[in-house]
Amino acid sequence: MTDVLPFDQSPDIDRFIRWRRLLHSHPETAFEEVRTAAFVAERLRDFGLDPVTGIGHTGVMARIEGRGEGPVIAIRADMDALPLDECQSRPHRSRVESRMHACGHDGHTAILLGAAEQLAARRDFRGEVVLVFQPAEEGHAGARAMLEDPHWAEFGIQRIYGLHNWPDLPLGKFAVLADACMASSDTFEFVLKGSGGHAAFPHRSPDVPGVTAQLAVALGSLARRIAAPTDPLVITVTQIHTGTASNIIPAEARVGGTVRCLNESLRDRVEAELDALGGAFAAMHGLAGEYRYTRQYPVTVNDPEAASELRRAALAVPGLQEAESIEPSMGAEDFSFFLQALPGAYLWLGTRDPAHLSPLHSCQYDFNDAALPLGVALWVELVRQLLGRAPATMRMTS
Ligand SMILES: [Zn+2]
Ligand SMILES: [Zn+2]
Repeated sequence: MTDVLPFDQSPDIDRFIRWRRLLHSHPETAFEEVRTAAFVAERLRDFGLDPVTGIGHTGVMARIEGRGEGPVIAIRADMDALPLDECQSRPHRSRVESRMHACGHDGHTAILLGAAEQLAARRDFRGEVVLVFQPAEEGHAGARAMLEDPHWAEFGIQRIYGLHNWPDLPLGKFAVLADACMASSDTFEFVLKGSGGHAAFPHRSPDVPGVTAQLAVALGSLARRIAAPTDPLVITVTQIHTGTASNIIPAEARVGGTVRCLNESLRDRVEAELDALGGAFAAMHGLAGEYRYTRQYPVTVNDPEAASELRRAALAVPGLQEAESIEPSMGAEDFSFFLQALPGAYLWLGTRDPAHLSPLHSCQYDFNDAALPLGVALWVELVRQLLGRAPATMRMTS
């Protein structure tokens, strides 16, 4: 029975935990993942692979060639940490000031290393598995940087898969949505400009703070007017800046915030509607105005077929069960850039248990090591199902 990739039922979990905790204690943020990338590359060489470093600045990629022709699939792990001080004293706590693995990317990296070790040792599959260790997921579009790197295309990737640990789901549960699963994330800023003047003579200067306040209130109710109630849209004002003293009418004010939604055509509409609203307010009150809308991360949209492949693999992993019902998240994820370029899918891996209740991005958060073997088993099983010697039969028997 060599046509099925044997899954190692007793992987060295202690080693995965050591890797994960070592990464946790040495966090690095966007495009500074130099030590992390070196650690990853070193492990990949230990497994007999030939990693390419510096892809998208600090990303690492490596091929695991199977035996014989077949599809080329990629599995991605993000490697970056957050600019945050860890506020728990645990043995593997961050040793770097203002740096912390508070989103569990240390766990994602350890999982992909664990899967790489098993896959590289066996190679009992057709085609190729490309390992993608990505930098700068947290707000700096490391995925886009990798896609724009000339080396990316050389790997010939046909599909891509990723996961994120998910403290909203209990340990042992997973979820894969068949369509949009995470929101786009954009920012907006309006600058309203008047002439400024003495506060004792408001009839001589445009009321920049008053108009700004009205604009902020109007923005608060705009989402309801643009999107159907069934089509989630978040427009949140997060910043209002103006004024320096109680006796000066300021000449300028800024209003900024974030926009999140789950479909790209709605995203286009919001951008245009915000522009029109800001312009109308400025014109109505005799102010000059500037408007900036900055597109950050697109909507994360799973390919239905890839999502069903990933789901089927997860269902075959001992200890993993599908979550009953789950809604898309209004959080954003730069795996979305990969999914714009390639079909693929993204899975949430539950991590919550009594000792792991902190949300992502909390200074108390720590990746749940019990999820490591589940993640490793998921990737190994996905490769077995997609690139095993009889994939056509397997696809027929779902
Ligand atoms: Zn995060
Ligand atoms: Zn994350």
